[in-house]
Amino acid sequence: MSKLENKVVVITGGNSGIGLGIAHEFKNEGAKGAIVGRNQETLDRAVAQLGGSFIGINADVTNLADLERVFAATTEKFGKIDVVVANAGAGTVGTVATFDEADFDKAIDLNLKSVYFTVQKALPHINDGGSIILIGSNAAHRAYPNFTLYGAAKAAVIYLAKGFSSDLLDRKIRANVITPGTTDTPAFDKFVPAEQIDAVKKHFADQMPIGRIGQPSDIGKTAVFLASDDSSFMLGAEILVDGGMTYLS
Ligand code: NDP
Repeated sequence: MSKLENKVVVITGGNSGIGLGIAHEFKNEGAKGAIVGRNQETLDRAVAQLGGSFIGINADVTNLADLERVFAATTEKFGKIDVVVANAGAGTVGTVATFDEADFDKAIDLNLKSVYFTVQKALPHINDGGSIILIGSNAAHRAYPNFTLYGAAKAAVIYLAKGFSSDLLDRKIRANVITPGTTDTPAFDKFVPAEQIDAVKKHFADQMPIGRIGQPSDIGKTAVFLASDDSSFMLGAEILVDGGMTYLS
């Protein structure tokens, strides 16, 4: 028996990188559901890769009306929601000397506010006993250059897993957070010129205690665990999936 047979999941940012890796692992364990993003081309490609188990919903997670539409459409299509993965997010690069108010709002809107409202808008739809999985970052635990606001937002996301679990005890909805270390996703493309990507990935891999950077499937398998009954005694917990980079390097 697959671990997530007939479970219905919503994965924000499921059209790329870690979110797409989570969708593949969920599909492999018998789940179905919706992936959410703004880029129609990558949404269509991901839905095709996932072979009919998932629908794509074009929506902006920083827009509350879009979030309501995501959960209503998923419930309408599949009849229920068992798991929500709040994964959409992006590194924002700047320091306290350079980031102005608009940069602050943008970083926090995507990496913190959207996580809070993704969960709030899911509540009328997710089953009692359901699982909420947040994607934080190991950047919450160490000061990496230029990641001040990103790290602060992700640290707050770690708290949200505890707060949500406390808030939702009466419904036995468990919220937990995965904090990835450096993971091989298209996010690299946004920060590194194409001709340097392989060298930069090798540099990161050489610095990793475990000798490689993470793959989306590493995070996906952890998300499967948190969605399944195997983790039924876990709520408000953080799982650091980082190849040792946070505390061993
Ligand atoms: P990618 O850039 O590959 O994917 C980001 C995803 O988020 C895309 O699917 C994108 O879809 C979606 N997204 C971004 N903004 C919005 C928005 N406003 N509305 C809807 N969807 C949005 O990045 P990763 O897979 O690397 O990152 C996924 C998560 O993992 C993020 O929260 C990131 O902070 C975290 N993380 C990543 C690490 C890494 O090393 N890669 C390390 C630690 C944490 P679209 O563009 O279509 O909107």
